[in-house]
Amino acid sequence: MLPYPSFSIIPDMDRKIQFRETFLEKLGTSPSENVPLSAMSSFGIGGPADFFFEVRTEGEFETTLSLAAAEKYPFYVIGGGNNLLFDDAGYRGLIIRNRLEGIVGGEDRLRVLSGTGLSALLNQTLSAGLSGLEFLAGIPGTVGGAVYGNAGAYGRSIGDILETATLLFPDGGRKTVNREALGFGYRDSALKKRGGIVLDTILLCSPGDTQASEAKIRDILEKRRLKHPPLGTACAGSYFKNSCSATGERIAAGRLLEQAGARGLAVGDAAVDERHCNFIINKRNARSRDVLLLAGELKEKVFRMFGIRLEEEVIYLRADA
Ligand SMILES: Cc1cc2nc3c(=O)[nH]c(=O)nc-3n(C[C@H](O)[C@H](O)[C@H](O)COP(=O)(O)OP(=O)(O)OC[C@H]3O[C@@H](n4cnc5c(N)ncnc54)[C@H](O)[C@@H]3O)c2cc1C
Repeated sequence: MLPYPSFSIIPDMDRKIQFRETFLEKLGTSPSENVPLSAMSSFGIGGPADFFFEVRTEGEFETTLSLAAAEKYPFYVIGGGNNLLFDDAGYRGLIIRNRLEGIVGGEDRLRVLSGTGLSALLNQTLSAGLSGLEFLAGIPGTVGGAVYGNAGAYGRSIGDILETATLLFPDGGRKTVNREALGFGYRDSALKKRGGIVLDTILLCSPGDTQASEAKIRDILEKRRLKHPPLGTACAGSYFKNSCSATGERIAAGRLLEQAGARGLAVGDAAVDERHCNFIINKRNARSRDVLLLAGELKEKVFRMFGIRLEEEVIYLRADA
């Protein structure tokens, strides 16, 4: 999402106290304070957020967003934290974690709340005998995060199966939009430019053969196991987007990085994965600074060798965004 609103002011003590009080008044509970963001991210990196709150109902989500917007208090919505690099300095504002979970539906479309995990979604469709979502196997995160970045693999992305999404805006507005309005592209959606928080989605599926779906999923997971860092490795997925050639073909960033000599490079505990050069991993105590320095060095190497400027897929959230 856009780091909304990007007020440049750093909350001082008085503002923090006032925000905490207004929050308690409107939501009947207080946000957590000084929460380490390293625990909210698959990278395991990030200092403390001034405030942190998990929303579990639509009402809570709406009230929290409108409150932060009305108070002009910086906020940022996260899902599973699988595509994010948090700042060593944390975040000077409110991190809202979306825990709005639920799936209802029939044979050809499902209404899925945006905090639902992709793996839970896949499991539920499988046990209901539905197919069409197998490509999501092994991609960590929530439906909201997936829509934001049009997550996908092996030639399919969530935008391909999305019929509509209901968006929430900090001014309290809601809008249901279709696939076209969401402007999906490769790891891209209109949400990145125009904002809007995904509340729920209608996803398309079809009745299928469970055994065939399971075989497809096993195959995908095996491919991923062979190519990606071992499960549980602290990282945020592919660090850079695949690049686009002059003829419009995608060139794997991992291959460019490998040829440019990325293998084995490290800054502090941030290192290029041995198996897949497009994964930056946190070996133990990496800081965001280490990751950013390493990423800069990698971009430079690829640019020097191929004249191609790699673009980050992982989103870096600055403490004062
Ligand atoms: C091991 C590993 C493997 C991965 N493999 C893949 C892969 O194969 N393909 C792929 O595409 N990605 C992959 N990823 C990246 C990641 O899984 C996806 O980007 C995923 O969609 C992130 O979802 P999330 O809920 O964790 O989002 P977060 O990381 O929490 O957030 C990502 C962005 O989405 C925004 N956002 C989150 N929720 C909402 C919402 N409800 N409305 C609007 N904006 C929102 C956030 O503000 C943030 O800007 C991988 C990551 C890891 C760690």
